[in-house]
Amino acid sequence: MDVSQTIFEEYTDDLGPEKIIHIYEPVAKLRAIVVIDNVAAGPAIGGVRMAPDLTTTEIMRLARAMTLKNAAAGLPHGGGKAGIIADPKTGDKECLIRMFARAIESLHDYIPGPDMGTDESCMAYIFDEIKWAVGLPRVLGGIPLDEIGATGFGIAECAEVAKEYIDLDLNGARLVVEGFGNVGKNVARFLEEKGASLVAASDTSGTVYNKDGINVSGLIQVKEEKGSVIYYEDAERLKTGDLLKIPGDIFVPAARPDVIDERNVGTLDTKLVIQGANIAITTGAEKALHERGVLSVPDFIANAGGVIAAAVEYRRGSEKEAFSEIKSKIRANTKKILDKTYSEGLYPRDAAEMIAKERVLSAMSYRGCI
Ligand code: NAD
Repeated sequence: MDVSQTIFEEYTDDLGPEKIIHIYEPVAKLRAIVVIDNVAAGPAIGGVRMAPDLTTTEIMRLARAMTLKNAAAGLPHGGGKAGIIADPKTGDKECLIRMFARAIESLHDYIPGPDMGTDESCMAYIFDEIKWAVGLPRVLGGIPLDEIGATGFGIAECAEVAKEYIDLDLNGARLVVEGFGNVGKNVARFLEEKGASLVAASDTSGTVYNKDGINVSGLIQVKEEKGSVIYYEDAERLKTGDLLKIPGDIFVPAARPDVIDERNVGTLDTKLVIQGANIAITTGAEKALHERGVLSVPDFIANAGGVIAAAVEYRRGSEKEAFSEIKSKIRANTKKILDKTYSEGLYPRDAAEMIAKERVLSAMSYRGCI
């Protein structure tokens, strides 16, 4: 079967995706994918990811997650995502980002933001080229999402609401974080403020574990200065994959998609999962967790902090407004989906998708067909 036929038959549904664009620029060797999933509620906001192993289906799934996330958060934006297929440590990064910006100049319904492998500086290069992007540095009027820890802040607020449904005390709760990057380190920082104790964290080089607790600001300093958590001294060093076997109360996946699947979900020893990374857990693994009584809050509810701040930036709001909106929207949404989950006997993802899809379909009902 032809590739486009496969995409139309297997990957499109009543929401989208509306556009799938493959970009190849032969001089700079730029290879990129943009997926605009749905724009019924407004122009799509979604991050630009940079990694060497990105695929079209990954970007499509991430774009759908953005449609649902933006709808669930009640933002006037649809969902999209972009991926630049390259090593984010490449020396040509600025050039690739600028070429990418020029290539998307005609896509007026896609607003790029930072994601894995890109940051505020990358958004500044895009802004310089085409005059629109979110997650910009402060000096360009932006709300630097990663610097303020917008997503991590929202995940900590989500945890504080979710704990009520499983009778978990945040004070002294053991926190395990997979992927100690922008999201992971800020989750650790904000949950530590709420009384939790970080016992383990990982990155691509390994895992550090101390059952008596790891000092979060110390670990952030080590990661920033030396490049990996494994150089933190007051902890046991393990392999990256060993993190999943470490017992805890709260587990936050904040690295890559599909890290928890049907094969390894049984090793996870936790009470509450707050999904920091997008599509970090397969649907089957989520269901297995639910059957075991482990509450897992879906990605597009828990990690909406960054995009809520981006939407505030897009309408020229302040950092203070961003924090207040993240707090109120994420707390209200978490409560809404968990009330529905437990009162109607649903899986959390099904409850969340029902609420989000209803909003997208309602926005779509105003679109003309000619
Ligand atoms: P980042 O690049 O800053 O950090 C990712 C971290 O994960 C790095 O420390 C990396 O070493 C580590 N990592 C990668 N693969 C790993 C693996 N297999 N095991 C353990 N660690 C691994 O990225 P980020 O901005 O923190 O984003 C992390 C995830 O959260 C992504 O899935 C992203 O889409 C999602 N997300 C980010 C934001 C945001 O505001 N930054 C918002 C919503 C969702």
